[in-house]
Amino acid sequence: MPVRKRWSYHASMSSDCLFCRIVAGEIPATIVRETATTLAFRDIDPKAPVHVLVIPKEHYADVATLGQSDPELAGQVLATATEVAEAEGLLADGFRLMFNTGGHGGQEVFHVHAHLLGGAPLGPMLA
Ligand code: 5GP
Repeated sequence: MPVRKRWSYHASMSSDCLFCRIVAGEIPATIVRETATTLAFRDIDPKAPVHVLVIPKEHYADVATLGQSDPELAGQVLATATEVAEAEGLLADGFRLMFNTGGHGGQEVFHVHAHLLGGAPLGPMLA
């Protein structure tokens, strides 16, 4: 049985959410892939030669909320991230896929997004 979505964490679109506004076309972004349910676009401040953000079009605050509420959609985000990794030529040498989550996770934009990073050795995650 699907988990009920809590209104405080979920809405199909939030007018004050930056990434919802990118989905709506109200804020420009360099889109690299789009599916019926997901969008991938280049990070405005890239931390690696390839730095793409992959999001569900539907608004969820973070990956914990998405994973609990709609695991199928979470899987679609991962599938799109993998397709972008392949299109960007990252599969042979590897890449990093990560979700900053909440305050301790360093999350700044509260519309769940996977960071796809690659194109050079990234070093250890925790230095
Ligand atoms: P977080 O810290 O929430 O995991 O990551 C948010 C990411 O969104 C950052 O890497 C930041 O550079 C990126 N970002 C913030 N504002 C914009 C924007 O308007 N457009 C794009 N493409 N990326 C953005």
